Amino acid sequence: MAGKVIIFSAPSGSGKSTIINYLLQQNLDLEFSISATSREPRGSEQHGVEYYFLTPDEFRSRIANDHFLEYEEVYTDKFYGTLKSEVERILQTGHNALFDVDVVGGCNIKQYYGKQALSIFIQPPGIEELRKRLIGRGTDSAEVIESRIAKAEFELGFAAKFDIVITNDKLETAQQETLQQIKKFLAE
Ligand code: ADP
Ligand code: 5GP
Repeated sequence: MAGKVIIFSAPSGSGKSTIINYLLQQNLDLEFSISATSREPRGSEQHGVEYYFLTPDEFRSRIANDHFLEYEEVYTDKFYGTLKSEVERILQTGHNALFDVDVVGGCNIKQYYGKQALSIFIQPPGIEELRKRLIGRGTDSAEVIESRIAKAEFELGFAAKFDIVITNDKLETAQQETLQQIKKFLAE
């Protein structure tokens, strides 16, 4: 039987990666769908692990050849997209595919897979807490943090389009709530 699809979207800094990393260790037969991007690798990121890193021209050529299920220019000149081949690889082997995508991509993938998919929006308890987490994470300059906050205000408007909204206030509670919702969906 083909696997199911779990989609995560959230404003940057909400704690989405932290929750996803927890879920990937819970024996739910989840496999992370590796996206393609034209941004530069950060830190220890490796091709084929966090992302498939492509040049902007390679990315455009794959768009022209209809290789993407969906793609977005999330930041100027920075493309991100889901390769059809990646999703097919996961679902055909019966595993469940887990997506970490922006809010627009999340809505598009949910629309494509319908009831086979569960879309989850992770929201922070508030904008000030989001700023605190982004500062605490220590990966971005003050300028980048403010651009992420500005974008978050737009992204929070998409929450109602998702099947489930999880507020990540206390991490442990948010992880447990997400885990229970996914277990229920996979058992249906
Ligand atoms: P995202 O993937 O959504 O950008 P991260 O998972 O990188 O967010 O989390 C952003 C920062 O906030 C990290 O430093 C993380 O450890 C921290 N964090 C995550 N969840 C919580 C929480 N519930 N309370 C406080 N800090 C949190
Ligand atoms: P980052 O550069 O921090 O890894 O990711 C930036 C944004 O791109 C995040 O919001 C992430 O969810 C989103 N993203 C990653 N992969 C994809 C994808 O395949 N499609 C879409 N639409 N967004 C993606």
